[in-house]
Amino acid sequence: MVANKGRVFSGARPTGRQHLGNYLGAIQNYVALQDEYECIYCIVDLHALTTMETTHDLVENTYEMALDWLAAGIRPEETIVFIQSNVPQVTELHTILSMVVSLGKLTDLPTFKEKARQQPHNINYGLVGYPVLMTADIVLYKAGFVPVGIDQAPHIEFAREMVRSFNHRYGVDVLIEPQMKSTDVPKVLGTDGVNKMSKSLDNHIELAATPEETLKRVMTMVTDPQRKRRDDPGDPDVCNVFSLHKVFSSSDEVDMINMECRCAGIGCVDCKKLFARNLNAHLEPFRARRAELASDPDHIWDVLEEGAKRARQIAEETMVEVRAAIGLP
Ligand code: SF4
Repeated sequence: MVANKGRVFSGARPTGRQHLGNYLGAIQNYVALQDEYECIYCIVDLHALTTMETTHDLVENTYEMALDWLAAGIRPEETIVFIQSNVPQVTELHTILSMVVSLGKLTDLPTFKEKARQQPHNINYGLVGYPVLMTADIVLYKAGFVPVGIDQAPHIEFAREMVRSFNHRYGVDVLIEPQMKSTDVPKVLGTDGVNKMSKSLDNHIELAATPEETLKRVMTMVTDPQRKRRDDPGDPDVCNVFSLHKVFSSSDEVDMINMECRCAGIGCVDCKKLFARNLNAHLEPFRARRAELASDPDHIWDVLEEGAKRARQIAEETMVEVRAAIGLP
């Protein structure tokens, strides 16, 4: 039951099957927010185009991601779940907002500079306007809150500035300044124990993997690099397996590992097997629900279409006000 403290908007790129990093960093929070807020969750396929080399797996990745979201507990009866490009009003608002921000400001943003460094062969116009489209996403639905980690704070501040510029230029208060809903986004490291978990680095553990695949993946995890042999004492504080034990294992098990690792009482192989077992047990209901949902793919597309229908309605109401505020004929 939604306590309705306001409206939350969040978007994520269609990255296909979700992994543990997505789960702990975003999906769990998405699910929890539904209890208190009216939530709108968007699969931002247009944003994805700014960095994609090819679109051949866009449909499949969208489907797989939506499937994971629903299996994890996003409730489409309450929450609006939809695909960004299915609401064309967002591109209209993007164009309109692009007139109230200077080009210099956009090209000065650290995120743009970073992207430009990452893909010097493809510094496209969409990449420059990315924060404008992001602002359009949020304000189109008059979302009061955007759940983001502290590192995303400048983006929300940027969106707020753009809203103020629009309202000031046209002498209205049509658009709402979104608030950042500060979220403690844990940095989940990949199996390499060094980099953030990511599909592109192939250091991820998929939520939808089978228990056997999960165990195999867990067994490749890098542990305390100083612990070379079974009888070397280890340091759980520098071990990624231990960090994840803290999330998925009982407090007794965590205490036991914390003690036994330091005196070589437990080996990494057994420690990882225990982690894989607990992770698989945790994900069992998710996987069962996912299999059930996957037996009817049309249902997933229907959910997305229904979500888009509801989103378009809100979007069009905002655009009627926006067009009137500007004085478009
Ligand atoms: S025993 Fe466990 S916590 Fe200790 S280093 Fe090995 S995997 Fe990490």
